[in-house]
Amino acid sequence: MNTRAGGTAAAFARYPDAKGRYGKFGGRYVPETLVAALDRLQAGVERYLPSADFQAEYALELKTWVGRPTALTYARTLSKRWGAEVWLKREDLAHTGAHKINNAVGQILLAKRLGAKRIIAETGAGQHGVASAAAAARLAMPCVVYMGAVDVERQAPNVGRMKLLGATVVPVTGGDATLRAAIDEALRDWVSDPESTYYALGSAVGPHPYPYLVRELQAVIGREARAQMLELAGALPDVAVACVGGGSNAIGLFHPFLDDAGVRLLGIEAGGRGPGLGDNAASLTAGTPGVLQGSYTLILQDAFGQVRETHSVSAGLDYSGVGPEHAFLMASGRVRYEAATDDEALDALSECAKCEGILPAIESAHAFAGARRYAALNPGARILVGCSGRGDKDMPILQRTVLKATA
Ligand SMILES: *Cc1c(COP(=O)(O)O)cnc(C)c1O
Repeated sequence: MNTRAGGTAAAFARYPDAKGRYGKFGGRYVPETLVAALDRLQAGVERYLPSADFQAEYALELKTWVGRPTALTYARTLSKRWGAEVWLKREDLAHTGAHKINNAVGQILLAKRLGAKRIIAETGAGQHGVASAAAAARLAMPCVVYMGAVDVERQAPNVGRMKLLGATVVPVTGGDATLRAAIDEALRDWVSDPESTYYALGSAVGPHPYPYLVRELQAVIGREARAQMLELAGALPDVAVACVGGGSNAIGLFHPFLDDAGVRLLGIEAGGRGPGLGDNAASLTAGTPGVLQGSYTLILQDAFGQVRETHSVSAGLDYSGVGPEHAFLMASGRVRYEAATDDEALDALSECAKCEGILPAIESAHAFAGARRYAALNPGARILVGCSGRGDKDMPILQRTVLKATA
C-alpha cells in the first residue's frame, strides 16, 4: 500500500495478500512439517469462515453464550476529569471476563467443521486457556492446554478454572518455561497429528493464516463499537485506543475503523519499568524486525538476534513479539503506537475503578493510561477506549502494588 497516495481505506482492507503478508510483515516461517497443517487450516478458513452456516452458528453462540453485544459505556466521571468525551467498549462483560472468548469459540466452531477430535491451546497468564477450556466444554470437545511451568506456578487460580472446565493442563518445563515455550510445545503436538487435532492460537500472532483468522473473529469488537458510537454518541470517535500484547483485542477494535480516515487509532504497549531492553514488552515501539514463532514481525531481541525476556506488570502483555498486522499498520502510519509504564497503568486502573465502578484488567489499564495522555494533548476529544477485560484475575498483584501503597 505504501505506493498509494494517502494509504486509502481499500489499501488496508486487502491485507493480508495471498502469501499471508501485511506489507513486508507476516508470512509463514515454519519447518516443512508444519506447512501441510497450515495449508489445510487455510483452506478450512477460506471455505468455512465466510459460510452462512458458520456465521449463523458463531453469531448465535456470541449472543446467547458469550453475552454479546457487550455494552458501550459513557464514562461520565473520567470525561469530566480528563476534559474529554470518553466511551468504553466493555469486553470485560464478555463471558470468562475478556475478549479472548470471541476467538476461542470461533476457532473451536471451525475445528468441528475441519473434523478435529481434540483441541489444544497455549496459555501464558491463563486467560486464553480458560477461554479455550470453556469454549471446548460448551462445544463438547476435549481440550489440552500447554502452559509454561513458571506460569502454572504464578497463575494457580486460572489452572484451577481450566481443570474445573474439564481441560487437561500440561506444564512445559523446556525453554523459558513461559508463554513462548508453551506455543512451541503446542505447535509440536499439532504437527504430530494435524488432522484430528486443532490448535486454537490465542492472539493475532504466529504463521499465516492465524493472524488473519484471529483478526476476523475479534473484529466483532470494532463492528459493534462503531455502530454503538453512531447510535449512542451520534458520531464516530476522534480516536480509538486499545492495549497491545499479541495484538488481538487491538486489531479487533481497530480493523472496522481502518476505512474511517477521521478516526485516529492508538495502540498502547507495555512500557514496563522503562525503555531498557528486558525492562518492557514494547515490541512495536522498542523492537526490531525479525522472525518469531512463524512470523516476520517486530520483536524484542539483542544485537545477536537472541529473543530477550520481557517485563510487564501485566502477564497478558508480557510477550516479546506482536502480530504482524500491527507492525504493518505502524509502518504505514495508519496506527500510532506508544507505551505506558507499569506505574501509569496501575494509576489509570485505580482511577477507572474509583470513578466509573469498573475494575479493568491491568492489560486494559494500559489503554486507559494512553487515552488519558491523549486527552491531555487533545482537549474535548471523543475517545473510544477498548476495555479488553476485567481485573478480578489481577487481585494478587493488585494486593502487592496498588493496595499496599494505599494501606
Ligand atoms: C490476553 C489479554 C490481552 C492481550 O492480548 P491481545 O492479544 O494483545 O489482545 C489484553 N487484555 C486482556 C484482558 C487479556 O486477557
